[in-house]
Amino acid sequence: MHNKTDISNVAIVIPVYNEEESLPELIRRTDSACRLIDRDYDIILVDDGSHDRSAQLIQEASDQPDSHIVGVLLNRNYGQHAAIMAGFEIVDADLVITLDADLQNPPEEIPRLVAKADEGYDVIGTVRKRRKDSLFRTLPSKIINGGVRRATGVQMSDYGCMLRAYRRHVIDAMLQCHERSTFIPILANSFARKTTEIDVDHAEREFGDSKYSVMKLINLMFDLITCMTTTPLRLLSIVGSLIAGAGFFFAFLLIILRLVQGPVWAGDGVFTLFAVLFIFVGAQFIGMGLLGEYIGRMYNDVRARPRYFIQKIVRSGSSTSPFLKEKE
Ligand code: UDP
Ligand code: MG
Repeated sequence: MHNKTDISNVAIVIPVYNEEESLPELIRRTDSACRLIDRDYDIILVDDGSHDRSAQLIQEASDQPDSHIVGVLLNRNYGQHAAIMAGFEIVDADLVITLDADLQNPPEEIPRLVAKADEGYDVIGTVRKRRKDSLFRTLPSKIINGGVRRATGVQMSDYGCMLRAYRRHVIDAMLQCHERSTFIPILANSFARKTTEIDVDHAEREFGDSKYSVMKLINLMFDLITCMTTTPLRLLSIVGSLIAGAGFFFAFLLIILRLVQGPVWAGDGVFTLFAVLFIFVGAQFIGMGLLGEYIGRMYNDVRARPRYFIQKIVRSGSSTSPFLKEKE
């Protein structure tokens, strides 16, 4: 059994993209939740190239005397998961908790996550009890969660919820991963031995709109699929051969029908042929698209450009938190 001294400091990493309305409340609520855990803490707000006043608000918050806020300002928008990675890079805490800035995951759950970590778990996930999102968002996420469970063999039921806690060694392992398209909860699970989940509440987004456009969501979904498995590639050839088999069967059927029913019938068969052709062409395009996804990702990894670029780190002058890595 692990004792309480096992985790002596905690860092909260929050990606922020155009969240000026929710920032003040976020900071207030997160800070008061952190006071309850009775350990040293830092709140890392990573500004993901916001166009509104978010960066400025973060700077102001970190300027307050005795502020636990550290701002990491990225020079442009790199996406939620890249922003979280940038936050991971600068913290050195024993336990790192991620959280969304939009207050859909209540920061009040932080003490419960820490308590669970004290029990010795490496990764603590959360399940949104009554998810307050539209069917358009929940249905694909149900399908994906099921797929991920099969592919990774880790029994977690809600990968979409970003309120999660990771222990130091899992964070270190994740930082060693240099691939560009990461989906953090899945990546973390591939390095964790003991994982668990707790139920949390889910609130409606109070301020602003979701920062995910349809294109960004599709991209995230592909990130998620390609980051965990190459099964779709294998599936491709299986599905391909099934379709090809069906095609041969059709051709055979057509020849037989032509011989038995005579040439009159053949004229109508044109349409069947069209149908078969379309199936083929469709399957090929799906296949090529999937191949393209992997190749595109490989191309990006080969170029090995940094996933993000930290422009500036701001923290209160009096802050001497030893739990932050020094960046030049
Ligand atoms: N986010 C980000 N960069 C982006 C998009 C989103 O840092 O390009 C942050 C956003 O500020 C929020 C979190 O990621 O803290 C989740 O975003 P959002 O609430 O819009 O996603 P949803 O809840 O709709 O899945
Ligand atoms: Mg949200």
